[in-house]
Parts: sequence; structure tokens; C-alpha cells
Amino acid sequence: MPAPIPAVWHPQNAEEACRLKRRFGEDAVYVSGGTLLRTQWEAGDRQVPAGLIDLTAVKELRGLEEEGGALAIGALTTLTACRREPGVQNRFPLLAEAARAIAAPPVRNLATIGGNVLSEVGDSLPALLAYEARLEWQQGEEVRTQAAAEWLERTRGGPEDANRLLLRIRLPLEAAEPDGGDGGNGRTFGFYEKIGRRETFVPSSVTMAIRGRIDGGGRLRDIRLAAGGGRTIPKRFPLLEERLEGAAADDNAVLTLHRLLLEQYAPAPDPFESADYRKRVAANVAASHLWKAIRNQEGERRAGDAAQSREQRRPMADEAGRTG
Ligand SMILES: Cc1cc2nc3c(=O)[nH]c(=O)nc-3n(C[C@H](O)[C@H](O)[C@H](O)COP(=O)(O)OP(=O)(O)OC[C@H]3O[C@@H](n4cnc5c(N)ncnc54)[C@H](O)[C@@H]3O)c2cc1C
Repeated sequence: MPAPIPAVWHPQNAEEACRLKRRFGEDAVYVSGGTLLRTQWEAGDRQVPAGLIDLTAVKELRGLEEEGGALAIGALTTLTACRREPGVQNRFPLLAEAARAIAAPPVRNLATIGGNVLSEVGDSLPALLAYEARLEWQQGEEVRTQAAAEWLERTRGGPEDANRLLLRIRLPLEAAEPDGGDGGNGRTFGFYEKIGRRETFVPSSVTMAIRGRIDGGGRLRDIRLAAGGGRTIPKRFPLLEERLEGAAADDNAVLTLHRLLLEQYAPAPDPFESADYRKRVAANVAASHLWKAIRNQEGERRAGDAAQSREQRRPMADEAGRTG
């Protein structure tokens, strides 16, 4: 017997969408781009429910704007827009890079950042965690915000409130990349990397975002590191970040990062790759990026020193020319 055709609702605002979800509970789902839901329905991982709540007309979920010290990204923003928007590309490049690494352009044109977050294992999440993103929810008639890291942590025990609607993702501007990458207080760095058997279409082995700063005295500052990939719910590593705060930016710091990640990361295995393999990949990727950041900074410092000593020699040579 063919499956019954689901009813489709088109709420015009967030409260209306939430009311519908509360009324129909598990018999209805929110639909944004529908790319993940469709895959789940086709694979038989999830049943097509009796009702679909189409979010495309919900105005509160649209747009990107700076507001209250954050870049607020509407949950309906497509991954293509996240990749191309100058506000994201220039200030939150790890998120733009994450969006580029998800699926192929036709999927990215439909897929939304909200749907990616709600998948709980989406490849945008490590970048969002590294930027200390906050999630803004419509919960009944109230609007609440919560750190993305806290939401993911609680999600491990099952969804906190399956009826609430994600409105926007807020990225604090203080986490934004300063112009030219130089915070005026040392050199900032950041990397996003997705490692997999293929770049897109199959779940990744490891997806990682790392950012931080090397201060004028050559010490690591404000390191933020998040990892996920495959079926692993992404997470930050506060203990590791604490250990690296103020550490000399040298090979010892790289070794410490590698060791602590091996100790603290517990990825989920899948039929293709063991948890141990994923853990080692994560530690190697993180260590190699930190090593590169340190080397780049040393290279720049040496180039700066050389330029300065050339500048200092020039007046002496000019003086010698005049008196000679
Ligand atoms: C070929 C292909 C390749 C893919 N490759 C990748 C990949 O490399 N990396 C990756 O991370 N993902 C990948 N995906 C999965 C998917 O496309 C993305 O996660 C996408 O961002 C989901 O967004 P969506 O708008 O399509 O979500 P939808 O399918 O509409 O929804 C996903 C889930 O989120 C819920 N939801 C959606 N919006 C909201 C909201 N505002 N509030 C509350 N709940 C909401 C839905 O109810 C549903 O449970 C791939 C999918 C396909 C088909």
C-alpha cells in the first residue's frame, strides 16, 4: 500500500510554527531545506510523518545581521549563503570553509545552517563551537538563547525539547577574525579541516576547527578547539584549552595538544572506522595545524626582524655616504 501523503502547513511566523509542532508532536516535523529529512526517509531511518511544517515563510528565520555584539544568522540561511556572505567569509572564515566542505552545490543551495545544526552531527558544528556560537530558540511563546556547546552536551541524553524552533545562530563579534588576522596583540590563527574517505557525500572521519592567538611574547592565547565527524556529536575541549593557555608556542605545546586530544576525545565508531583510528586522526590534524601556525608566526617574526635591522642599517649607511 502506498504511504499516505503527509499534510503540509506553511506557518508565517515562529510562534505559529511552534504551536503547530506542539499540537501534533511526533506526528509532524519542521522542514527547512529538507535535504537531510529526505535522505533519512529514503533510507528508511525515519518514517515520513503525517504532517510537515514547512518553515520557508517564517520571517524570523531569515537574514544575517549584526546585532547586540553578534552576527545573527537566520536558521534558514542556506549553506551556499554561509559560504559566500562577506560577513561570514571575512569575519568567520572557519564557518565559510565548513559550508564549502558540506555536500555539493545543488544540496548546499537548499540545505540550511539550521538543519545542519539540528542534525546534531553536522559539519558546521565544530566551526560554530570554536566561535562560541549561541543558539536562539522559539520555545512556545518565549525566545531563549543557549550556548551551542551546552545544547550539544544536553542532546547526548536525548533531545531537550523536540518542539522548539531554532531561530538564529549568534556568533559573538569578539570571536571574529580581526582585519588582516592581526589582533594588534599578536597573531591570530584558525583552521577548519574535514577528513574523510571522500571530501563530501560520506560522513567524515574527523571534522575539526581550531583557532587562537600567539601573543607578542610568543605564548598561546584563547585556543578554541572543537572536533566531531561521522556519528560523533561534536564537542569542545575546555581542559585542553586551559592547559594550553599561556603555554610557550613551541614544539612542546604541539606534543601536549596531541597527547591531551588522545586522552580526551571519545569519537563514535562506525562500520568503516574504529574510534581509535578517528581519535588518532583528530590528534594528528590538530597537532599539524598548531605546528603550522607556530612556524608561520616564527617566519613572520624573523622577516619582521630582518626588515627592522635593514631599516636600522640604512641611516648609518646614508650617514657614511654623506661623510665619505
Ligand atoms: C547528498 C548529500 C550529502 C550531504 N553531505 C553532508 C555533509 O558533507 N556534511 C553534513 O554535515 N551534512 C551533509 N548532508 C546532510 C544535510 O544536507 C545537511 O545537514 C543540511 O544542512 C541539512 O539542512 P536542511 O535544511 O536540508 O535540513 P532539513 O532536512 O530540513 O532538517 C534536518 C533536521 O532539522 C530539523 N530542523 C530543520 N530546521 C529546523 C529549525 N529551524 N528548528 C528546529 N528544527 C529544525 C528538521 O526537523 C530535521 O530533523 C548531506 C545530505 C545529502 C542529501
